[in-house]
Amino acid sequence: MFLGLKNYILYIFQTFLNLIYNQKCLICSCSKTDSLLCKNCAKDIHYLSSFPHKIFNNIPFYSATLYEGIIKKLIHKLKFNHRKKASIPLAQILYKYFNNIKEEKEYIITYPPSFFLKSAQRGYNHMFLIAKEFSKLTGIEINKNLIKKIKYTKPQYKVKNRHKNIKGSFKINKKEIKKLKNKTILVIDDITTSGATLEEIINCFIINNIGNIICLTISKT
Ligand SMILES: [Zn+2]
Repeated sequence: MFLGLKNYILYIFQTFLNLIYNQKCLICSCSKTDSLLCKNCAKDIHYLSSFPHKIFNNIPFYSATLYEGIIKKLIHKLKFNHRKKASIPLAQILYKYFNNIKEEKEYIITYPPSFFLKSAQRGYNHMFLIAKEFSKLTGIEINKNLIKKIKYTKPQYKVKNRHKNIKGSFKINKKEIKKLKNKTILVIDDITTSGATLEEIINCFIINNIGNIICLTISKT
């Protein structure tokens, strides 16, 4: 009886908080949740194994999930529907996976930059939002100036030859290199398809004699 009453009070309190903050699950819109992804929706996420799905030039590529279902919906909301809050559950998913692969190392977070006009058009850089939330969870510092996008490229999903499209479009900011001493660079991204973007970034690091890198994406196709 007492437990029932206690749960009822907690339920009322939670509902009251949700009403104030208008907290709803981003996927199913239910308000019986204390996070942006309710437990019911979160249980549909299938995490991939904690082994790299690819090794490129000795750099491991990890992916937390497959680009499907809830993950696909969250990424779409963030990138195309202006739902900036979707960066929070996406960063949580990345964090949950990262906990299985992290080692006793000092990391630094970075991500593929988008061309400035692209960010201006969207009003925000979606990868910066994810990186910011991921940094809050892990306590790892972000370096958002490490990789520069130096030319406009068509969105990767719109082209056939993705390697050719992205070639020569990034540069490592030499001023930032000294900040990398003894650190492992954690390059994070939302989706990897052909891996062309991340491979191009790896090539830029290697040209600058930087090889202490891990690539980690939320999803892969
Ligand atoms: Zn839900």
